[in-house]
Order: sequence, then C-alpha cells, then structure tokens
Amino acid sequence: MYRTHTNGQLRAADITKKVTLAGWVQKTRDKGFMVWVDLRDRYGITQLIFDEERTPKEMMATASQLGREFVIQVTGTVIERESKNPNMPTGDIEILVSEITVLNKSLTPPFTIEDETDGGEDLRMKYRYLDIRRKPVRNNLVFRHKVTMAVRNYLSEKEFIEVETPYLIKSTPEGARDFVVPSRMNEGQFYALPQSPQTFKQLLMVGGMDKYFQIVKCFRDEDLRADRQPEFTQIDCEMAFIEQEDILNTFEGLTRHLLKEINGVEIGDFPRMQYDDAMRLYGNDKPDIRFGMRFGELNKVAQHKDFNVFNTAELVVGIAVPGGNSYTRKEIDKLIDWVKRPQVGALGMVYCRVNDDGSYKSSVDKFYDQEDLAKWAEVTGASKGDLICVLSGDTGKVRAQLSALRMELAERLGLRKADEFAPLWVVDFPLLELDEETGHYHAMHHPFTSPKPGQLELLDTNPGDVKANAYDLVLNGNEIGGGSIRIHDKKTQAIMLKHLGFSEEEAKAQFGFLMDAFEYGAPPHGGIAFGLDRLVAILGGQETIRDFIAFPKNNAGRDVMIDAPAPLDTEQLEELHLKLDME
Ligand code: ASP
Repeated sequence: MYRTHTNGQLRAADITKKVTLAGWVQKTRDKGFMVWVDLRDRYGITQLIFDEERTPKEMMATASQLGREFVIQVTGTVIERESKNPNMPTGDIEILVSEITVLNKSLTPPFTIEDETDGGEDLRMKYRYLDIRRKPVRNNLVFRHKVTMAVRNYLSEKEFIEVETPYLIKSTPEGARDFVVPSRMNEGQFYALPQSPQTFKQLLMVGGMDKYFQIVKCFRDEDLRADRQPEFTQIDCEMAFIEQEDILNTFEGLTRHLLKEINGVEIGDFPRMQYDDAMRLYGNDKPDIRFGMRFGELNKVAQHKDFNVFNTAELVVGIAVPGGNSYTRKEIDKLIDWVKRPQVGALGMVYCRVNDDGSYKSSVDKFYDQEDLAKWAEVTGASKGDLICVLSGDTGKVRAQLSALRMELAERLGLRKADEFAPLWVVDFPLLELDEETGHYHAMHHPFTSPKPGQLELLDTNPGDVKANAYDLVLNGNEIGGGSIRIHDKKTQAIMLKHLGFSEEEAKAQFGFLMDAFEYGAPPHGGIAFGLDRLVAILGGQETIRDFIAFPKNNAGRDVMIDAPAPLDTEQLEELHLKLDME
C-alpha cells in the first residue's frame, strides 16, 4: 500500500498510530540536528520530523538532501507537535519518520508552488502541471467538478439524458469560423469541428429523445478577445414538446439549484426583460442589474436649444452617477479621457453636477438653464450629490459607449459585488441582425431559431423588425446561457435560409440532412446552452475563465505547454493531400 492516509487527514486523535504517507516535498527546514519537511498532496500538508536522537544517521542525511517537489513515501508514527499550528487542519500533529523512500527527484521548479506564487502567467502556463499543484488552481478544478456534478444530477433527476454527439462533423454556424480537420481517406475533403452540437441535438429531438443534455466541447475560430478560448465547454440542452415558457422555467430551476447548492444563495423568480428594453435602459443585451444607473434618454429635453452636438445626434442619453458630484474637475476630465479611448470611442462627454443645494452646474451651461437641467435630472433619476454623464451620437454606438462607462463607474464605486447574484432573462431578441459592412442580414442567434408566431411575413418587408423566440440568461452582466425555440418544418427553414442569403443548392448541401429530417415527423422543440467555463468562474466569484480550465490556451490561442498549433512534416501533409505554398 502506497499510503494509509492522505496529507490532509491526520488529527490529534491519530496520535500514536503508525502511518504511511506519500506526496511532494513542499519545503524543508534543516537545523542540522533536526529536519522538518512539509509533505503535500491534493488533500493538504502534513509535517514530517527527523531528529538526531530518534532518527538513524543515513536517514537524517536523506532528509536533509530532499529538494523541493521531490516525491517521497514515508512511514512513521503520528506524534503531538510541540508548537502547534492552528491555521493548518493537520497542525496539531507531525510524523516522526522511521522509513523514507525517494520515489522520484525533481528539478527545482521554475516558480514557487505556494498559494501566492512568484511565477508570471506565461511561466505558469508552460508548466501548468506544476501550477495545478498549487491550492488555488486545484481548488478551482475541484469547484468546477462540483458544479458539473450538480448539473448532471439535477438534469438527470429531471429525466434528461446525456447523449454524446460527434466532433468530426460539418459546419454548424454559430457565427464564428470553423476549425477544420482534413480527411486522409477522402482527398480534398474536410470535417469541421462543431461550433456547437446544435443540429445534432435537434436531430435527437426528431429521434424522440425528448430531453437531452450534454456537457460538451465546442470549437470556434474567432479573433481572440481577452478571456475567450477557441475550445470551450457548454452545458448543451434541448427539449421537445415544449414552449418557451417551459424552457425558461426548467433552466431557471437549474440555475437556482446551482446558486443554492454551490453558493448557498436562494433566489426567487428571475426577472425578465425584453431585448428592446435592455438596450434602451442599459445599452446592452446583458445588463448587470445588481445596481441601477439606468439610461435616461434626453432627446426630448435636450434638443430644443442651440447645442448642435445634441441637435444633430440620433440619441442623447445619460446616466446618474451616485455621489458623482464629489468628483473634482480633474477626475471628470480623466473620465472624459476614458470615454474617448479608442476601446470606448466616444467623441466627448457632457456632464452636469447636481449640487447639494439642488442647483445644477453643467459643462454646457451656455446652452441650458436650471430648468432644462432639472429635466435631465428627472429623466436620469439623478438626485442631490450625483453627477449626470451624457453621451450623444448614433444610437447603437452611443448605447455601447455609455454602457461601457456605466460598467466602469460601477466597478469603481464597488457596485459589482462578487457575492451578489442577479440573474435576468432577456427575451424577444430580434431574429436578424444587419451586418453594417456587407449590408446583409444574418441570424442573430443561429439559422434554426424560429420567428415569433405570425411574423414570418414581415421577413420580406421589415426583416430587422422580426422578433425571435430567443432568450438569453444573464448573470451579473454576463451572458451565461442562450437559446431559442426552433423551426421544425422544412418550409419555414427554407424561407429562413433564403433570407440569410443561401441559394437553394447551398441550403440543401449544407443543411439538407436537417430539412430532410423535418419531413419525418419533427416535434416542436427548443433548447438552450450555457457556457460552463464562464458560469463556473462567476459562481466561483472570479472573472477569468482560464483559471477554471485545466489546460487553457493563451490569448493568442496557443497552448504554450505542448506548443500547439505546430507545423506538420511533409510526409503527413502529403498523406492528408495538403500542399503548403508558403511564400
Ligand atoms: N447552439 C446555441 C449556442 O451555442 C445554443 C442553443 O440555441 O441552444 O449558442
């Protein structure tokens, strides 16, 4: 037997027991006549002791030669510690070692394997297996396991079946590029890795599976943004014979269960907000509703004077920053610089102080009197001591800019508390979205989402106005899940694909299998998928999804540990019928 106990297990009650432990040397303290070793494994740390009087000479020598991260096995007696450590679960005892085996040596690790390490991000990624020995990383992986177990148990209890779907498939458009895999046996042909199991889960519904889920890898070749991974995990779900209401209730139930089970917080009914309202009130389809600072549209009360910047703008919109009147002129100037950064892109910002005596002082006093400004305060909900920040311009852009400012200010004001959870359903998304660059419409969610009943005809005349049976679940300003009720008849699917710019042949080549299936008794169905990595990070009270993935890729999409992606050798390229023309 390698070990009788783990390194997190022994307590005062075990004193006098003979035990065998194994693990890694966290550190040694060598006083010559006495050597202490901290022995670590997944479960904790136990202190070992070797001393001149009780330990044979050769063993003293072995002990003092142990390096950090050596793997050892020891047998000894549990004894009471002279100086106890109340901060360690095993802090009352130590092991007086009588036998030691060095199972493996270790080079000196490139960073310290402690809760707080001196290793930078790159180094820790290169030696991720060492990073995983650190408690915070290990705890995150254990936490993730707990969340996935809770998901599996909950859904399984509700009669969902976990079914695996293939990875070597054909394009499933979710709005990104596909990762492709060349086929050796079919010259010139390629598989695509799934951006999601979307079409397969719909086929499972046609297959009568009724309630499906899968914790599954998805692959999307997108330009990498901070904290995006080219491969990520979804909790993918689909149900048949349901309406939107059933999906919302079922997955609200799952989310509530997780918040209770994992975080110990009980949350009542999740609020729901129309997509249009989310955009109008928060400038964003995933509003963080842990705090207020709702948008106030000021067109009516600000476009009647000679201030041309506002008069020519499509939208004039402001927020009230609680206590913001305490900002100095310099601080406000810095805020203006902040909104003008290229990442935010505003051209400028108008502001108005609400003084403690109820009077107003704005940066555009030349144009607006106290009565005008009082209306601004009314519309934005500003009270004494607040600062009103106003942006103007094209609706879409201005909303995005003010939304960025709102989030930034909330962060600075400490309004985004990690231990507070504010879930929200955003419903009634538009079916289509206009691509400004190409002038074409594409599916806002994906091409399989059904329009709201009776709106199909609108596709011809006002495509941008068609609403979909699509919904997102938002938690603390993050989209944690999204889904829709699907089209389940061939005719509607064909109309939809036509509007998305597919010719009949293209539609048939790419989605013929699905449309054929719809002709064999496809039941009404719909579903949702949660982004597991992000969900776990949020439940864990952290922002970075990388910290909850065992072997993540870096911001450039590289695995720096195994050094991938990497070139192929000529032989393999030939076998795959690939010729590289590198000029
Ligand atoms: N396949 C969708 C996605 O990955 C989710 C869904 O519609 O169920 O976003």
